[in-house]
Amino acid sequence: MTQTTTATLQKQHLIDPEICIRCGTCEATCTVGAVSHDDRNYVVDPEKCNACLDCIAPCPTGSIDNWRIVATPYAVAEQLEWMELPAQQALGAAGISLSEASEGEVGALIEAAHAGGGGRAVAPASATRPVVNLYARSNPAIATVQGNFRITAPTAESDVRHIVLSFGEAAFPILEGQSIGVLPPVTDPDGRPYPLRLYSVASARDGEKRNANNIALTVKRVPGGLVSEWLCNLKVGARIAVTGPFGSTFLAPDDPRANILMICTGTGSAPFRAFTERRRRSAPAAVGRMIMFFGARTPEELPYFGPLQKVPARLLEQHLVFSRVEGQPKEYVQDRMRANALGLAPLLADATTHVFICGLKGMEEGVDAALAEIASGAGIDWAALKPRMRGEGRYHVETY
Ligand SMILES: Cc1cc2nc3c(=O)[nH]c(=O)nc-3n(C[C@H](O)[C@H](O)[C@H](O)COP(=O)(O)OP(=O)(O)OC[C@H]3O[C@@H](n4cnc5c(N)ncnc54)[C@H](O)[C@@H]3O)c2cc1C
Repeated sequence: MTQTTTATLQKQHLIDPEICIRCGTCEATCTVGAVSHDDRNYVVDPEKCNACLDCIAPCPTGSIDNWRIVATPYAVAEQLEWMELPAQQALGAAGISLSEASEGEVGALIEAAHAGGGGRAVAPASATRPVVNLYARSNPAIATVQGNFRITAPTAESDVRHIVLSFGEAAFPILEGQSIGVLPPVTDPDGRPYPLRLYSVASARDGEKRNANNIALTVKRVPGGLVSEWLCNLKVGARIAVTGPFGSTFLAPDDPRANILMICTGTGSAPFRAFTERRRRSAPAAVGRMIMFFGARTPEELPYFGPLQKVPARLLEQHLVFSRVEGQPKEYVQDRMRANALGLAPLLADATTHVFICGLKGMEEGVDAALAEIASGAGIDWAALKPRMRGEGRYHVETY
């Protein structure tokens, strides 16, 4: 998969030597003989790998699922020497600007969105290392709209869309939990560019459709909003300028033993769709549980209400919570969490549990109070546990 800007870039498939348990599953699965090993490492030959991804799901550790964007691929001999994976190369020498976006507007937006919970945000220990800032305003990736579907009921007040973007031949590696930047299609009256808007990726790392080099977004039409209105109106075939990927902490843990507690409203469900799809594809029999508390005004207003009915309970325990259903008392996610305190308290005490909160800024306070109450009911000091989880990369907030 290559993309030409001022140099030819390639998405290179690599195996993380720190996580690999040398079981040989990848080598046995590879049909083109791209995987080999010596007595130290399993490696992927960039000359042979056709990025079919057949080896990804059978790998028991996720060490196989690592990618770098490179101008010159790492040779097999070099990979055999590695004790750890190299960081994503700075591609400045290849004429690619990587830093512009992160230092300015995006850095501030991401920091603000991840500020909840206090303390420094840390990625889950088992998360794959992400590629960030590959495309900036000066060298955006051009994506083509492959689909634009309404995922709230036709009768719902809010218009939320599932938008599928294809990157064609351009490498755009994302991990579940990352966001992309969308450049507004117009400039301000003085000809200056408007700030970009961030949107969480709602699909798994191997694509909305596997191996199709596409991603999905969940976009809510904000009345009067510059970018969301435009995105929600786009027709199939439209081309848009995209930056990113962004975000290096709000990431899905790859450990199949990790319990993932996901709490969201509205488009905050986007990364959790990605998390769920990732686990369904990579570790469907994982011992770790996935539990979602998802709030909306009504079932009609809840994005993906229909598709969620088909997700098996053994993969995802769902609590869909509604605050405006006629004839029913108002219920918010924090109310349902309190009602499930007996189930949630042992999860909080479990060192393999990760908490993810995503959606409207306003939800944070109520969810935090509920978690504190649930913890305290089980004799757990939430004021001490939360920063510990945060420091261990097990407590993550993304609100906007
Ligand atoms: C990390 C992160 C992830 C995100 N993920 C998603 C996601 O997955 N899905 C999603 O839908 N959104 C997401 N967002 C929000 C998204 O980035 C945009 O903020 C959102 O789509 C609104 O952008 P807009 O251009 O449509 O609206 P804007 O043009 O920014 O307008 C926002 C509001 O302000 C009002 N407004 C604008 N200009 C003025 C003015 N001059 N005076 C008065 N009012 C004004 C508009 O009417 C509108 O109500 C995310 C944000 C962050 C930070």
